[in-house]
Amino acid sequence: MTSIYDDPTAFAEESIDGFVAANRNYVGRLDGGVIRSAAMSPGQVAVVIGGGSGHYPAFAGLVGVGLAAASACGNMFASPSAGQIYRVAKAADMGGGVLFTYGNYAGDVMHFDQAAVRLRNEGIDVRTVRVTDDIASAPRDQRYKRRGVAGDLPVFKIAGAAAESGEDIDEVERLARKANDRTRSLGVAFGGCTLPGAAQPFFSVPPGRMSVGLGIHGEPGISESDMPTASELAALLVGRLLDERPDDSESTVVPILNGLGTVKYDELFVLYGKVETLLTAAGLRVLEPECGELVTSLDMPGLSLTLFWPDEELAGYWSAPADTPAYRKGILDRHVQRDITRLREAASATAEPGSPAATRLGALAVSVFETVSAVVAAHEDDWGVLDSVAGDGDHGIGMRRGADAAAAAARAAAGTGVSNVLTTAGEAWSEKAGGTSGALWGTALIQMGRVVGNNDAYTAADAAVAARAFCSAVIELGSAEVGDKTMVDAVVPFADVFGDELDRGSPVRRALIAAAAAAKHAAEATAALRPKLGRARPLAEKSLGHPDPGAVSFAVIAEGLAEMLSAEEIPAPETVLTATASESER
Ligand code: ADP
Ligand code: MG
Repeated sequence: MTSIYDDPTAFAEESIDGFVAANRNYVGRLDGGVIRSAAMSPGQVAVVIGGGSGHYPAFAGLVGVGLAAASACGNMFASPSAGQIYRVAKAADMGGGVLFTYGNYAGDVMHFDQAAVRLRNEGIDVRTVRVTDDIASAPRDQRYKRRGVAGDLPVFKIAGAAAESGEDIDEVERLARKANDRTRSLGVAFGGCTLPGAAQPFFSVPPGRMSVGLGIHGEPGISESDMPTASELAALLVGRLLDERPDDSESTVVPILNGLGTVKYDELFVLYGKVETLLTAAGLRVLEPECGELVTSLDMPGLSLTLFWPDEELAGYWSAPADTPAYRKGILDRHVQRDITRLREAASATAEPGSPAATRLGALAVSVFETVSAVVAAHEDDWGVLDSVAGDGDHGIGMRRGADAAAAAARAAAGTGVSNVLTTAGEAWSEKAGGTSGALWGTALIQMGRVVGNNDAYTAADAAVAARAFCSAVIELGSAEVGDKTMVDAVVPFADVFGDELDRGSPVRRALIAAAAAAKHAAEATAALRPKLGRARPLAEKSLGHPDPGAVSFAVIAEGLAEMLSAEEIPAPETVLTATASESER
């Protein structure tokens, strides 16, 4: 049970607040996570980790000297949002670039990638090394698909030590990748874990049984057996991991025996002794092992064994000192503390007010979001039904949450220019919507905001560029092509027709009507396709005959906007475009 809380929905936030209070010499609180309080050198690479809450000491407990510069902290077992990751990384950046390293889970990948796009736009060099150590989660020839579990520790440690010793971003990335390539883990569980507020564990293992390979969020295991003795368990874990020994490994190994929640230290030590005996018997030299809680899963009864196979250079970084709330090694000089308030403010700087002309255009953008939110509300139920054919049925509710949050954020950004309104609304959309489509819409709006600027006026060409930016962002983040049966199938014809019409000199209003019609036609045509990506892929046959929900919702929104801009009371864009634009339209 997870028993101690006032409000279960506030559990993750309150836990992080208390953690920071209890470790104030080590970390400071950011909007979205924590940052180390010890000063960093100018140009030092910032190793930024993160993930869901409920895995302490991953992730916040591993922030400090010689390890992570900062951690983005999500809700219970849920990825931090792209906005949180962005703000945390922005605060942590020392001008030397940012290395994102985190466990390989779809939600985290989407949000970290989205944050990386935004940071790169601001000139920050961002690299990513995903931890993929769990041998139970995908076959050997698909190692890159594996999940990250306690192998987080060696990868974070190597990256953090390299950054601390002044290596540049290329080198820190190379070393972290090499550490991940040489790390393998396998976990077992004897029961489930319970989220705060829940009466029951959200998965279970029958009494007296052990699930092999069960993930840290209850992902199904690979096999089940009767509860073994300590010697049998050691033999199972060591045997499976030695089978997966990397080709280029040497005879040095770092065993990391990790308790997942309720296995006691005393029990772990019993097992560790047997693990080490087996490794030594296999002719291996054990280097600086770890035995304790390193990546947990709330109150889960279970444990994992990680074998990390360092070569000489990795061994040096593994042995380097570190000083964090939960992981301390070697002896370090006293750290110089820095002022976290300033970093926090730098990461959440508010927008400058725009000129009167820019503000008027910003107000038009706000009314666009009001319309989007009204259109979405009117179609929410239809899209939910459509998504339940082959997806998980949440497309309507997700779009509603995203569009409403975007409209609210846009209203709050009124008084600034178009770029500010779009980026603020996009951030809110992806933060609140959840789901794949939320991340795609959010990023696309942010990218659009970035290319349009807070101008006093726009040309027809600017409008075409903005539509293209939306389209490219969706393609870049989701890696879908036309024909994969996703929203890309509607977005691409929309951007193409919009650009062509404007090139031909059509007024923006007419170009928008034509583009929306093309999107609608293309969305309907997806009914004949089989999905190649996303949640609908495993249910491809069921999806045949039904259009793609994301393509449909995009087309309906485009149509709604075309109607809005044709309505009398709203100033059509061409009335606020510059003279150049009006000329090209004639
Ligand atoms: P989720 O799939 O996470 O439940 P939604 O239900 O809100 O998210 O959105 C589903 C829609 O997202 C799909 O109909 C499709 O249009 C779009 N989508 C899913 N994956 C991708 C992708 N990789 N690229 C572009 N669009 C995608
Ligand atoms: Mg869905």
